[in-house]
Amino acid sequence: RGQSAAADPRLAGRALKRVAFSEAQIAARVAELGREITAFYPDDDLLVLGLLKGSFIFLSDLVRQIARPLHVDFLVASSYGDATVSSGTVRLLYDPETELEGKHILLVEDIVDSGRTLQKLVELLGDRRPKSLEICALLHKHIATHLDHPVRFVGFDAPEEFLVGYGLDHAEHFRHVPYVASLQ
Ligand code: 5GP
Ligand code: MG
Ligand code: MG
Repeated sequence: RGQSAAADPRLAGRALKRVAFSEAQIAARVAELGREITAFYPDDDLLVLGLLKGSFIFLSDLVRQIARPLHVDFLVASSYGDATVSSGTVRLLYDPETELEGKHILLVEDIVDSGRTLQKLVELLGDRRPKSLEICALLHKHIATHLDHPVRFVGFDAPEEFLVGYGLDHAEHFRHVPYVASLQ
């Protein structure tokens, strides 16, 4: 797709299989998502809650495409460690300091796979009485059998491969790669 993962000096000699979404594709889609989100919210009190670490690049690009007042905070949850398969346990390592009650919460996630992580977070955040709670994910594998909540805003339908780049890691590598590529 006009971008090669083979000769990228960011990879330290490790090979990525294929570029799934290029920088240009991502930028165009993030701009569209920003417009969708801007139009979606009827009033203020929008809190964009990024799930660290995977969402940090997506979130920073996305909020600059949302043309309305908003606040930003983060959550840190842990479910995968360095493995490529979900363990099913979700730990909250950092809780947002911002008051959530009465806010429109937009939870920003890098990728939805089984949906376990998000299901747990939706339950936790729902208990804090937000005005609304929606999910925005850059990538969605559509096998989220564990998620009982719609993913309202989706960047791309993702292939069932392990993806890295644009914030997504494997064992903390590749987060700074500016495109999304498959690992194996
Ligand atoms: P889930 O709980 O939906 O199975 O997975 C949630 C988290 O696992 C995602 O937010 C992401 O951090 C990680 N994950 C799932 N699929 C992938 C993938 O293809 N690549 C990477 N790098 N992380 C993934
Ligand atoms: Mg994640
Ligand atoms: Mg990870």
